[in-house]
Order: sequence, then structure tokens, then C-alpha cells
Amino acid sequence: MDFDMLGLPPRLSTNLTALGITEPSPIQKQAIPHAMNGRDVMGLAQTGTGKTAAFGLPLLTALMRTEGKPEPKSVRGLILAPTRELAKQILDNLRAYSEGSSVRIGLVVGGASINAQVHRLMRGTDLLVATPGRLIDLIDRKAVRLDQTRFLVLDEADQMLDLGFIHALRRIAPLLPADRQTMLFSATMPKQMNEIASAYLTDPVRVETAPPGKPVDKIDQYVHFVPQGGKTAQLIEHLAKHRDEAALVFSRTKHGAERLMKTLVSEGFAAASIHGNKSQGQRDRALKAFRDGEMKVLVATDVAARGIDIPDVRYVYNYDLPNVADNYVHRIGRTARAGRDGTAIAYCSEAEMGELRDIQKLIGRSLPVAGGAAWSPMEETAPAKRGGGGKGRRRGGGGGGGGRKPQGAKAPAKAHGKPGGQPQRGRNRSRQRSKAA
Ligand code: AMP
Repeated sequence: MDFDMLGLPPRLSTNLTALGITEPSPIQKQAIPHAMNGRDVMGLAQTGTGKTAAFGLPLLTALMRTEGKPEPKSVRGLILAPTRELAKQILDNLRAYSEGSSVRIGLVVGGASINAQVHRLMRGTDLLVATPGRLIDLIDRKAVRLDQTRFLVLDEADQMLDLGFIHALRRIAPLLPADRQTMLFSATMPKQMNEIASAYLTDPVRVETAPPGKPVDKIDQYVHFVPQGGKTAQLIEHLAKHRDEAALVFSRTKHGAERLMKTLVSEGFAAASIHGNKSQGQRDRALKAFRDGEMKVLVATDVAARGIDIPDVRYVYNYDLPNVADNYVHRIGRTARAGRDGTAIAYCSEAEMGELRDIQKLIGRSLPVAGGAAWSPMEETAPAKRGGGGKGRRRGGGGGGGGRKPQGAKAPAKAHGKPGGQPQRGRNRSRQRSKAA
């Protein structure tokens, strides 16, 4: 299948070819034919899958075929995105795809002059890419009207949920005509998304692609050197700081997992466990509770976690380091999905230095030390042969006095068990980023 077969106007096909985009990606193959037929679409797809073109090409096609100019202040198609950066990226892509056509695409996001935006909206816009907050400001100023907006796209809708998007959508959607085409794209489908879909979409076609691999170097990773007997206290300290965020804790043994889960429950955490001694029914219930957010902490063994669809988590704790280094990569791949922030923390006891070396060899770099100091000298790990981990990801090095330089023999006991500052700092930074809209 190529783009011509999808019935795009020649202008779009020519531009795509010039951009080196010749064959539709899986999400495009699935979504474009339905969207061109005017159907509502609900897409499970992440950045990098070509989703912008999946909704953008049918939109541009429809707008290129719409006669006349938009009325003053009106908007024919509206795309809502969670952050300024994403909105700008969508704008850039759609402008490139439609270059040379008469479709006028506008951008309204926070952080830029609202007066300039008011001015530009005055003459009417074919396609407007907006972050919800700024759009509402403009609606309040009566700078924009949506009563002629026949196309609505909600992009990265799951991220918008995190940003209180439902309130914005409740205000924005009723301003649009009921007779419109709506497309919703999201990297994950939390329960709330179905509620949004049933409220704002009509009989949507569902399309989805397999998530692309999660590169290990997108995940903030740290090691804490902590005695085996101090790991539980260390974990509790960390978990207590992030009670509202989903955490996955890996234990090497079934008994260890069960014991740890019970300790966490007795400490007041909403924790569940999955391991080989649990029945399928128990595992399913634990997973469901975790997925629904009733349980915030899931303690798992590698075998129990393999191949199951554990939702995206903010933190992965390697309570025990895995014997097989490959499992480290599988474990931490449960976080930082779909461009989100994710942190993986490894607790390394004196007996686990060998495992730590194997892991660092596999990922091609040393893990920044966020607490304690190495139990024995560690050779510097050369940057990546596999996985490309070294580049630019060393900012956290040395938070707890360790760092990636070879360490002296044992660290003073009091250094162990202290929470390092680095994960926290990384987190704040990303928080600031995601507030952009
Ligand atoms: P997106 O997932 O929409 O953010 O797109 C990721 C990147 O892939 C963008 O630079 C697109 O221009 C590009 N792209 C989109 N569709 C295709 C395709 N069918 N073939 C190759 N590249 C594409």
C-alpha cells in the first residue's frame, strides 16, 4: 500500500515523497482509510509511530477540499495537545506535509504573546493546534469561535489527563458542533479514556500499533549501595516520598517477594505481589488492582512479570539485582514508556557487585551512584557498544558521594541507606517540563 492508494490529494503525496515518506506506517494504514471516510477514530499509538500524519493527512485532505475561506475568528479543525513542545511539533509536521497548499495552520500555546495570537485568529484559521489552557484564555477573550469546527483531534490524550484536561475539554467540546469528526490518540488507555471516548466520540474505529522498543537510555537509572539488611528501610524511605506514583519492585525469590510485600503492607503501603506461589486468579486480581491504581506498589519476581502487560510505572526498584543482566533491561523497560519520565533504582549489596558489573557491561555504562559508595573498586565502564547508553545521561553521577570513578574499599557505614538527591532533582526538572502547557 502506498499513499496514492489512500486517496490523498496529489499535493500531499508529492510533499510526502519529497520528505522521504513513501510507505504508510502501520497506524497510518489502519487509521487513514477510516478517517478519510469521516469516521471517528480512537488510536493507541505513541510518538514515533507516525500518528501525526495518521490524523493529519485526512484532516488536511478534508480542509483542502473545503471551499472558501474560514470566517473571521472561526476555526475549521482543532488539534489539542498537552504541551507547547508537542503542539509546535505537530504544527511543523503538518506545515511540511501541506506545504504549497492554501491551508492555513495556526498555533496557540502559552508562553507566547496572546495579543499576537488574538490578531492572527481574527482572519479565521483552517487548522488550529492548541494547548487547552491558552485556548480557553482565547475563548474567554472571545478571540476565537468553535461553532464551525468540524474536526477535533485530541493528541496524547493520556498526558492531557494528567494535566487536568478533562475540565478543559468539558468547556471546549460543547462549543463545537455535535456534527463533527473526532479523533483521539493516546499512548496508553487508562480507564478514564473510555469515559472520554464515550462522551466525545461517536462509534469510533479503534486502531493500535505495538509500542516501539523503549530505549534504555531514556530511563533515569541509579544505584544505591546498601547492605542487604538495610534494603527494606531504604525502599520504604523512597516509596514514602512518592506515595501516589506507581512503583514496581523486583525481588529475586518468591518468598522474598511475599515477605517484602507483607512488610510494606504493615508499613501502610497499598502493595500487592505476583510470583510463582500465587494462583492465576490471585495474580490477575493483583494486576488489576495495580492497573486501576488501587495498589500503588507491586512486588514481583522476574518470572511472574515476564510477558504480562504491566502498565507503565514511574519507578522500578531493583530490590535484588537480577542474576541475569538481560533481566535488568526487561525490568526497567516497564517505566518511561511513551516518552514519559521513568526512574530505575538498583539496590546493590556487597554480595551483588558481580551482578552490578554484568549489568553495567551490558548497558555499556556505569550507573550513577545516588547513595552509599561502591563496596569494592569498580572499573570504569566504557560507553555503549550496545544500547547507546552513555551519551548525555551522566548528569546524576555521584549524588551520594560515589560517582563512577573507582571507589575505595568499603564506604563508611553511615553513608549507606541515605537517600540520594539525584532522582529527586531529575524528577523536579521533568515536572517543570511537563508543566509547559
Ligand atoms: P510522529 O509519530 O507523528 O511524531 O512521527 C514521527 C516521525 O516520523 C516524523 O518525523 C514524521 O514525519 C515521520 N513519519 C511519519 N510517517 C512516516 C512514514 N510513513 N514513513 C516514514 N516516516 C514517517
